[in-house]
Amino acid sequence: MPDNSALQKIGLPVPPERDDASLPSKASEASSGPFGNAFSSLRENPLFTGGLAIAAMGAAAQLLRKSSTRALQLARRQMLVTVEIPSSDPSYEWFLHFLANHQRQGAALEAIPGYSLSALLSRFRPAPRELAVETRTMKTPSGAAVADFVLVPGQGRHIINYNSTLLQIERMRDSKRMNPNGTPFETVEVTTLFSRRSVLTEMLRESQAMAMGLAEGKTTVYMSRGIEWQRFGAPQRKRPLSSVILAQGVKERVVNDLHDFMSAADWYRDRGIPYRRGYLLYGPPGTGKTSFVKAIAGELDYNICLINLSERGLTDDRLNHLLSNMPERSIALLEDVDAAFANRTQTAEDGYRGANVTFSGLLNAIDGAASGEDRIIMLTTNHADRLDEALLRPGRVDMKVEIGYATKEVVDGMWERFYGPDNFPESTEGLKKRFLEILEKGQLFNEDRGVSTAELQGMFLFFKSDPQGVVQQAENLVGARG
Ligand code: ADP
Repeated sequence: MPDNSALQKIGLPVPPERDDASLPSKASEASSGPFGNAFSSLRENPLFTGGLAIAAMGAAAQLLRKSSTRALQLARRQMLVTVEIPSSDPSYEWFLHFLANHQRQGAALEAIPGYSLSALLSRFRPAPRELAVETRTMKTPSGAAVADFVLVPGQGRHIINYNSTLLQIERMRDSKRMNPNGTPFETVEVTTLFSRRSVLTEMLRESQAMAMGLAEGKTTVYMSRGIEWQRFGAPQRKRPLSSVILAQGVKERVVNDLHDFMSAADWYRDRGIPYRRGYLLYGPPGTGKTSFVKAIAGELDYNICLINLSERGLTDDRLNHLLSNMPERSIALLEDVDAAFANRTQTAEDGYRGANVTFSGLLNAIDGAASGEDRIIMLTTNHADRLDEALLRPGRVDMKVEIGYATKEVVDGMWERFYGPDNFPESTEGLKKRFLEILEKGQLFNEDRGVSTAELQGMFLFFKSDPQGVVQQAENLVGARG
């Protein structure tokens, strides 16, 4: 109660004393009237107040969840970094190979102090060591199908330990999108801590170096797949020129011409001539045409882009696109070029045109195959007589090289490779002389009735430690030719 004695002393009016009990309280005000009554009865309802509390708690939990998800996303954005590698990028293949190699070495399961790796791994499916087999097949010039298997990490998430850093690798396939070569579009995402982001560059560098190392001193063969070039198998060891035995002067003529061409970039550019050189290697099957191109690629440190023109489904457009978009430092090797001439009379109505390369399609593709860098095109055929003059014009075919049946000197060279002093301590000179005589007498050093180097190689391989046996076999060979 306030003390009013001071007011009384100075003669000021004293406010009337309030009787709190007589004043209506706010609650009793509210409880008066129709709404007040309803509220008061609700307030006293335990079901209502309980529901209200639950709703409030739910809203709070929702808010908490939302803000924690946001916080997590924010933290993730701040703390993690992800790099995406699409399958359309060349580094995609290097990176998959690098990963497969990394996993093969068991590095994926290395324990890192402070981490419960097994607990982490258990959250990811499929298992981190899971690899997928990818098979690539190609037809050899002899027509046999060769399969090559590559092991790459499968779809899904993987955790690897690279340079003491945990990385999450996620390989994903987008079934709705396709690469231009018809394969499904894929991406690999690599995530790690932002603070360790330099590891990503290190890893990509290492995968690139690994790919380069694989290719060093080797020749990579690319095959067409759809409208794209795809590496066929692992790079092969360079084939030395000395391993291809040809008639005297043939190798030197081609190799010297190539060296001249490669040093004449300015000459071509100054005259506005497409910087391109075409070679036609012709002769019977098995005489070493493809082997020679491979050896040339090895000599120049080039790769090979191989297209077989008799391949069904290879259209003019595809050929054109492929020849205009070759990987760097590659020789275009067009095999069975005569196949295009079989289609020269086809018309659009016969239903075949478009399923194979046509004559004009081949000419267009060769003419269009020009780029900033040099373009070397090697054509091979077993039937030079079927080719048209239009193809043999300079600018398309600048040099024609006949690689025929084995001449006497070629047989001599092949003999030395198998039975020379490196393989046989005692001299086989006498046997070689006899072998050559048999072939000569049987008229097998003849332009149209000879023996191919592939045939000789087959015989020598069969009798590789028995030069007497091969002399005997020469008699049979002549007999068989009649
Ligand atoms: P082509 O392309 O003329 O049909 P290839 O180069 O495919 O012949 O030869 C087929 C096989 O025969 C290869 O294994 C190759 O090593 C061997 N061969 C053929 N000709 C020669 C040659 N002149 N020198 C060395 N090996 C040869």
